Amino acid sequence: MPAISTVAELLATGAADRPAIRAPERPPLSYAGLRELAAGTIASLNAIGIGRGDRVAIVLPNGPEMAASFVAIAGGATTAPLNPAYKDEEFEFYLLDLKARALVVQQGAETPARGVAQRLGVPVLELVPGTAAGAFTLVGGTPGAATSPGAAGPDDVALVLHTSGTTARPKIVPLSHTNVTASAGNIARTLALGPNDACLNVMPLFHIHGLIAATLASLAGGGAVICTPGFNALRFFALLDAEKPSWYTAVPTMHQTILARAERNAEIIARAPLRFIRSSSASLPAQAMKDLSAAFNAPVLESYGMTEASHQMCSNPLPPGAQKPGIVGLPAGPEVAIMDDDGTLLPQGAIGEVVIRGPNVTKGYEANPEANAKAFTKGWFRTGDQGMFDADGYLMLTGRLKELIKRGGEQVSPLEVDGVLSDHPAVAQALTFGIPHPMLGEEVGAAIVLREGMAVTERELRDHAAKHLADFKVPRKVVFLDEIPKGATGKLMRIGLAEKLGIKA
Ligand code: ATP
Ligand code: MG
Repeated sequence: MPAISTVAELLATGAADRPAIRAPERPPLSYAGLRELAAGTIASLNAIGIGRGDRVAIVLPNGPEMAASFVAIAGGATTAPLNPAYKDEEFEFYLLDLKARALVVQQGAETPARGVAQRLGVPVLELVPGTAAGAFTLVGGTPGAATSPGAAGPDDVALVLHTSGTTARPKIVPLSHTNVTASAGNIARTLALGPNDACLNVMPLFHIHGLIAATLASLAGGGAVICTPGFNALRFFALLDAEKPSWYTAVPTMHQTILARAERNAEIIARAPLRFIRSSSASLPAQAMKDLSAAFNAPVLESYGMTEASHQMCSNPLPPGAQKPGIVGLPAGPEVAIMDDDGTLLPQGAIGEVVIRGPNVTKGYEANPEANAKAFTKGWFRTGDQGMFDADGYLMLTGRLKELIKRGGEQVSPLEVDGVLSDHPAVAQALTFGIPHPMLGEEVGAAIVLREGMAVTERELRDHAAKHLADFKVPRKVVFLDEIPKGATGKLMRIGLAEKLGIKA
């Protein structure tokens, strides 16, 4: 089979009559239908002067049109999906930052993006949904000639995204066709995806996880993605029952919400068996992984991904029993190594910064030479994560360099403390964070969400932690919350949490 290096080549491999994009209560869009949609979209964009390299911002509700417009627009221009929850100022910032040549919105949908685009002189294209899931036509724009019409090549940018902004202001990441198709192929291989697979997508489609793992990897395998409006626990079980997906992928907070309701939905789980469950984008506590696997009687594959790598870097392998709880798995696509501050690669067993290189890795941040100078060393991309390889070649993350809590002379890995706290039977979720401290720099704090009907005191939790952790790592303050604040992509935000919660040392 010829190497696949564009989204169009990837779409060409699916069997014409197989479903590519599905949505509840709508006929599926077949591979033939999706290819026709992609060709038609390039032609209609070219006719209004938009071609290769031109950025088309999309602000659409999560759903089949958003998935289809991503692949269709990438075929002849660059897709720039934006979070529909943004407000005026954010849309203005992103449309300008991206140098958007057009904005796609759903016809009739109310979004401040429309007004902002009009004010900035960015043409607004209205997306009119068709009958089949994901089918659409674009209306609007002024006729004109595109500078570079036609199909995108391997080095053209398919997708521009912003990072999640967990540790700093979001950075713009351009990802080429080579980058995204390499990553989709890696994920499809890891998961052995085929034409009979269907992924229930609950992830937002303005983030790399939903775009590449749920959508493009499904298409790389010749299977389908089932598009939903987003994550909702009640709807999740209803869709499991109605749509019979073979897998789903989500961030840990979603898995934990699902897990809390698994018992009362045991009948649905039994009649809608999943081949496997995938978790990525943040750390899945070991206990949650074991409980989820037991509840669904399916392997749970934790994977390690980031925007700059077009998502996947490592993954636990598929064979039953080969998954290691609390560990992000084997390199699953790019080369993965451990580097010290001076740029020397470290041997197995040593802790250092995780670095990667491979066809799925971005060439660099846009308009950000300072970030690029820091990010690349001797051809390797520095992930900002800290970890080590175990004796079996599995990567264990010890934390994000920017999230390490510096308590006096000691460094505390919040991930390690999360793991210990999550092992307590009353704890559903734990997030360890730094509290600014006048003498020590930072003190250790933890936010806890309890399991339904369970109770534990701050003192008991600290005693539990002290049994498993050195004294300096034991949280000095523990707060109980109904919910831990999350970022737009569903991640828990450690940085700034103390300030947000008004917790002082
Ligand atoms: P920003 O770079 O703007 O601070 P971000 O890094 O959260 O935001 P993403 O690209 O969405 O933006 O996330 C990538 C990061 O998520 C990784 O660098 C890593 O820290 C974390 N991550 C991903 N998967 C896992 C995992 N399985 N376990 C632990 N952390 C993970
Ligand atoms: Mg990052």
